[in-house]
Amino acid sequence: LIKIKEGKAEILVPDPKSYEIDGKFDPSWAPVFYNPKMTLNRDLSVVVLSVLKPKKIVDALSASGIRGIRYFKEIEGVEKVIFNDLDKNAVELINKNIELNKVKGEVFNKDANALLHEIKADFIDIDPFGSPAPFLLSAFNAVVRGGYVAITSTDLSALVCSSKYSARRKYDIYCERLSFSRELGVRGLIGKAIREAAILEKAAIPIFSFYYDYYYRVFFKVEGGAKRADNLLSKLVYYYECPNCGYRERSEYYERIKCTKCGTLMRVYGPAWGGELYNTDLVSDVKNKLQSNFTYLPVYNHVTRLVSTVENEAMYTQPYYKLDFLSSRLKKNVPAKNKVISCLSDASNTHFDNVGIKTSKNVEEVIQCIKIN
Ligand code: SAM
Repeated sequence: LIKIKEGKAEILVPDPKSYEIDGKFDPSWAPVFYNPKMTLNRDLSVVVLSVLKPKKIVDALSASGIRGIRYFKEIEGVEKVIFNDLDKNAVELINKNIELNKVKGEVFNKDANALLHEIKADFIDIDPFGSPAPFLLSAFNAVVRGGYVAITSTDLSALVCSSKYSARRKYDIYCERLSFSRELGVRGLIGKAIREAAILEKAAIPIFSFYYDYYYRVFFKVEGGAKRADNLLSKLVYYYECPNCGYRERSEYYERIKCTKCGTLMRVYGPAWGGELYNTDLVSDVKNKLQSNFTYLPVYNHVTRLVSTVENEAMYTQPYYKLDFLSSRLKKNVPAKNKVISCLSDASNTHFDNVGIKTSKNVEEVIQCIKIN
């Protein structure tokens, strides 16, 4: 074991050197998982939670315990953290780490689904290997009404349709690749979460969602009531895109339809969440907190950049336009993004894609701006 520091936590983790193969190391080769590449996920979660102010937290898939430990030490008002991992080595390490950090916590060695059917808390964190889908129902079961659930998903290949059968199995999604699939992936994930919560007559409202590196992260506020759940379900849609001319449609039904502009069979993705990805008040609170209380965060600059982009794009609900995709349909070079943004006047960058823009305008207006730039 070696001691590392992340944020205000100091924890013991398996020494990467002992598990190298041919001089290389992958966190999943160690007996207990600790991935420094997920620091941004934990940093930003600390800031979001400092705004949401939960008192009792469940870190349902804890590994080393780093996440729950950071929540306890870095967020004011957290009274208790419940840690859990199915793996005995992880539980042994969590016990050492919470003692080292003087955390008020309780540690379980259960299947997360079993634990989440036994306890209640006001924030549940689901941070698994791959898909969070197997843990959604139990997470929404364990959260109190008015509480919060956050999920990490690293199975982008399923959600962006590199593996369409996997998307169908895990998320009940008809998955075809559209030019804005990076955003559809998170919308598909949210759609699945909303349907799982609805089974329990709960409404899972997405309040902060982002893509980074190789994963999605979504925070939900969970409210009670069949009516509220129905209202969210009514905002699940299928997105359509013409692979030939870029024309788009949205419908509450799954159909094989032809493009009304050029007659090509359109590609389809869904069901997916068609509403807001953010609560804009929360985003500005996160931005302010970040600047006032959290300049010590290990990857502060990356977090700040991400939150600023998210703040600019948060007002646009329709998925981004991918400029290289549209330009190639027009057989034109990709214009400078800033020129297209100022041509549209009502548009912004998007954190989902470097060559993407967000706007409330339609595809014809975007094409017009590409043509003249
Ligand atoms: N949250 C951790 C962090 O931020 O560093 C990383 C968690 S790691 C990606 C996933 C953990 O879930 C592993 O430690 C694994 O042993 C545990 N796990 C896998 N399946 C589980 C299950 N069904 N119930 C409880 N824990 C499980």
